[in-house]
Amino acid sequence: MVPGNAVKRHPVIEQRIRDLAAFAETFPCNRLEPGGRSLGIITCGVAYQYAREVFPEASILRLGMTWPLPEKMIRKFAKSVKRLIVIEELDPFLEEAVRLMGIAVEGKSIFPITGEFDPRVVRESAIRSGLLPESAHVPLPDLETGPLPGRPPVLCPGCPHRSTFYILNKLKVPVNGDIGCYTLALIPPLSAIHTCGCMGAGIGVAHGAARAGSPEHHVAVIGDSTFFHSGIPALVNVVYNRSPVTTVILDNCITAMTGQQENPGTGRTLLRQETVRVELEPLVRALGIRHVRTVPGYDVDAIEKALKEYVKLDEPAVLIVVEPCALLPDVRKRWMPLEVLADKCNGCTLCFRIGCPAILKNEELDEKTQRPKALIDAGLCTGCEVCAQICPREAITFRPAEMEGGAS
Ligand code: SF4
Ligand code: SF4
Repeated sequence: MVPGNAVKRHPVIEQRIRDLAAFAETFPCNRLEPGGRSLGIITCGVAYQYAREVFPEASILRLGMTWPLPEKMIRKFAKSVKRLIVIEELDPFLEEAVRLMGIAVEGKSIFPITGEFDPRVVRESAIRSGLLPESAHVPLPDLETGPLPGRPPVLCPGCPHRSTFYILNKLKVPVNGDIGCYTLALIPPLSAIHTCGCMGAGIGVAHGAARAGSPEHHVAVIGDSTFFHSGIPALVNVVYNRSPVTTVILDNCITAMTGQQENPGTGRTLLRQETVRVELEPLVRALGIRHVRTVPGYDVDAIEKALKEYVKLDEPAVLIVVEPCALLPDVRKRWMPLEVLADKCNGCTLCFRIGCPAILKNEELDEKTQRPKALIDAGLCTGCEVCAQICPREAITFRPAEMEGGAS
């Protein structure tokens, strides 16, 4: 829409909105569910389900189309009830629009403006404001037995990103993260992501920090899919401006976090048709980066060696860490759990520091250190061997049965 046409088209847009407002009055998804006259609720989306559950007797105007609003329908509904409220998550969008029509309505004076709703939030808010009596309180099972223990999200057992973050934590360098499973590396014990904005931001932030004169060598981490999506322009910027930034491309050969979608690096389209596979290393070299290396994701030493070298450089470098996601169907077939040899383990805690959910604390304490020994949950362990490479006492090994029979 070039500017000259934009001016001419503006009245068309305004008329379209008027037409849509007329359409909203008869649109079947804007639905009135009549009930008692004492309370009327305007709601939309998932909040409707909570409203229905918590106020089974109320009249409800459920909006399936929230703009433009069906003003006549709302006025008629408001007149039919004694008290009108809006139940909507976050900002008071409907509430303010209804109030602008000159209709008395309540909403955020009862329900919170932050966080997600659920029936408990809606019910408790209504009780607190006096809209519902105290007797409406419904204790939930978890509240009766005490709060559930906190379970922070973690990288999966066998995640090929774990070794990279273990090393980055060890090197104590600032790491600029991106959006993907690997964002989870920000929490302990890996604690190896220090900034995270949006897809493709990690490389840009590292570059910005370097240009702003940060004395530390900044590292950016980005997944293969995100790199193809929005990392390449930022890396061009790093090269063009000669930023001493090390970019780590965590290539798990899939778009893992959102459900294993293909990407330009997998050689298959989203419909799983064979297609051109864009290779990372030649692509990165073509941008003019001289220091580029590809290493296997489970090779802890190779990752450490490359990163130690790159973070000393005064120019851009790219480390490509490749290993397919442990949850890919073909990879799952190769899972072979490891075990901890209790007579060798002294509870040094090193393997706990990689944050693998398959590594647990044994009830058995080491006689000398009085620390719990490690224990591996065979039901979770994939056999990636990252912990085995880190253990200084060679106390982690494959289970004899697995060695004989192979993966099941
Ligand atoms: S081999 Fe070690 S790090 Fe890998 S999944 Fe098993 S317990 Fe976790
Ligand atoms: S790293 Fe080895 S010795 Fe240390 S706790 Fe783990 S299994 Fe035991």
